[in-house]
Amino acid sequence: MMRLPRFEYRAPRSVQEAATMLAEEGPSGMLLAGGTDLLPNMKRRQQVPRTVIGLRGVPELRASSNGSGLRLGAGLTLNELCRDPRVEKLYPALFQAAVQVATGQLRNMATLGGNLCLDTRCNYYDQNYEWRKAIDFCMKKDGETCWVAPSSSKCLAVSSTDVAPALMALGGIVRLVAADGEREVAVKDLYQNDGIHYLTRRREEILTDVLLEPSAGWRSTYWKLRRRGSFDFPVLSVAAAAHFDGDEVTEARVVLGAVASQPLACDEASAFLVGKQLTDDVIQEAAGLASKVGRPMDNTDFLLHWRKRVIGEFTRYALRELRGEDMTEDRVRIARHQLAAVP
Ligand SMILES: Cc1cc2nc3c(=O)[nH]c(=O)nc-3n(C[C@H](O)[C@H](O)[C@H](O)COP(=O)(O)OP(=O)(O)OC[C@H]3O[C@@H](n4cnc5c(N)ncnc54)[C@H](O)[C@@H]3O)c2cc1C
Ligand code: SF4
Repeated sequence: MMRLPRFEYRAPRSVQEAATMLAEEGPSGMLLAGGTDLLPNMKRRQQVPRTVIGLRGVPELRASSNGSGLRLGAGLTLNELCRDPRVEKLYPALFQAAVQVATGQLRNMATLGGNLCLDTRCNYYDQNYEWRKAIDFCMKKDGETCWVAPSSSKCLAVSSTDVAPALMALGGIVRLVAADGEREVAVKDLYQNDGIHYLTRRREEILTDVLLEPSAGWRSTYWKLRRRGSFDFPVLSVAAAAHFDGDEVTEARVVLGAVASQPLACDEASAFLVGKQLTDDVIQEAAGLASKVGRPMDNTDFLLHWRKRVIGEFTRYALRELRGEDMTEDRVRIARHQLAAVP
């Protein structure tokens, strides 16, 4: 049995108190939200904070409101998010991403903020302490070599968050609060392509909210490839959102997940779609452009060549859904069940 290391637990009651604690603790403190990723990581000794600052007692983080657009507290659980009719109806990419994270039980604990700050992973890292010790560890924790690409100077672990690519496609913004101030950052700027330093969030900042622009005129979708239909991390995902004037696309964002250490914006494909109707030819061309962006590495499930090939296929599914085609059959074939919130 894997046991947790010893740690001190602190339970703030407000964002400000949590931010002060985080600043006081320095590098030895970590935030805990649902704990569905951090606690297993601690058991595997991938992350060993001396102090854990629990966010569950902070009511501000669990609020949502709509004014112009939608504001979602980072402490909302993914099931709470999926049960919110505004999310399912107005921001389908977010619903489809959140509802495919882990399992119903895990989504009762897992939070929006925890998903956005999820650690990157890789076949050589996602192992217990003894396994990692047997290969002399790796660059991401306790070692020096990257076993995926021994000549690489940086860790290539994969960004496995389902929600981040969806929020990037939706043009989401996050609010980050520290003891000495706060700032808003576009979700696309929250990440960087480095498996160790994958977030641009400063260590002392708490992600408190996600802000979404009004959804009028927008359609969005999220497609996820995973080994098991019951539950699994993505090994490829395509999120797409487009604003329409009649049948013509006036703005578009296509984003790939789980093929690099950050979600990848397909800028060329997105720009190509603008001013066009989503005909078969346009979709085919855009899917080709999106495929050029993703260069999966041999660090996760499935063969990398096949994952690369599937990028085009999944982009076509996403764009066909955006043009209004009923994709239920393909969706169920790929997800292996209907996407529905746990009641
Ligand atoms: C069996 C299993 C299957 C899974 N499948 C998936 C999957 O398919 N897709 C997927 O995306 N994830 C998956 N996960 C990972 C995880 O369950 C989810 O990503 C979940 O949303 C993480 O949220 P959490 O609240 O539990 O985060 P935690 O574990 O509490 O925290 C995760 C990280 O985020 C940081 N953090 C948390 N909240 C904040 C905040 N407000 N501000 C700043 N930093 C914060 C923590 O310090 C930690 O580094 C799976 C996990 C398991 C165990
Ligand atoms: S990509 Fe390389 S350094 Fe990063 S976790 Fe995997 S083996 Fe370790």
